[in-house]
Amino acid sequence: MSNTYQLLVDTTVSVESANVTAREILAGLVARGMLEANSSGNCLPALKSDPLTQHDARSSPPDTNTRSDPHGSSTAGDARGVSEKSASLKLISTTGPRLGYRPGRRIADLYHDAENEPFWNLQFCGVEFVAQPLFNPTALTNSDGEASCPSCRSTVSFDQPEFLAQFKRATVQRLNRQTGDEVVCTQCHHASVVDAWKVVPPLAFGNLAIRFWNWPPFYMTQWSLSVPSVVREYSGHTIVESFGHL
Ligand SMILES: [Zn+2]
Repeated sequence: MSNTYQLLVDTTVSVESANVTAREILAGLVARGMLEANSSGNCLPALKSDPLTQHDARSSPPDTNTRSDPHGSSTAGDARGVSEKSASLKLISTTGPRLGYRPGRRIADLYHDAENEPFWNLQFCGVEFVAQPLFNPTALTNSDGEASCPSCRSTVSFDQPEFLAQFKRATVQRLNRQTGDEVVCTQCHHASVVDAWKVVPPLAFGNLAIRFWNWPPFYMTQWSLSVPSVVREYSGHTIVESFGHL
C-alpha cells in the first residue's frame, strides 16, 4: 500500500524561527490531545531521502549539471545548520532518526468514520515536522500534469519537456533564494515567479512543514474541526494545505 500524506506548510515563517514555531504548534496539538507527547520513528514510513527537501537531485534535469551544483552545495550547508539545531531540540531530526508523533487520544472525538478502519490504527499514521526550506514535489509529478499561468490563466502541460525543465529549475532557484525563479508562459510569454503558478497539489514553498502520514484530507466532512485552522492558530502565520504520496 502506498503511503499518502496531508501537508500543512507555514509559508511565512523564517528559517531561523521555524524550529520555535514548530515547537509551539506541537505543544498546542499535544495539549489538545490531537497528538501524543512522545515521539517514535515506528509510525513513519521509511524514506531514502526526504522528497520535501532533497529537491536538487530530483529536480535538476540530468543533462544540466553546470549551474545547479554550487547552489546545491550551499543548500546542503544551510540544511546542516538547521538540522543541528533541530536535533538539539529533540523535535526534528534530519540527520538522526526521524521523529513522529502518533494521533492523540482525542482524535477519535474529532474524526468520525463508521465505515472505514480508523486511520490511527494504521502503522504509519505519525505526524512529522520538517523545518527546512522545502516545497511539495508531488506538485510536479502527481498533479493534473499542468500548471496555470498567473498572468493569462492558460494551463500549460508538463508534457512539454522544456517547460517542465524550466519549471523544475525555477523551483530549485526559488528554494535557494537565487534569481531565475521565474517561469515563462508558453501562451502569453510572460515570466512569473514559480510560486505564483497554480498547481494541484499546491507547490507550498516554505520553511516549515507538518506532514500527516495517511491522515484523511482535512476538508472531509468526517472532521468535526479544521486541523489547518488549529495549526494556523498556533503558528500565527499563513498555512497552505497540500498533499502527496510516496
Ligand atoms: Zn500566460
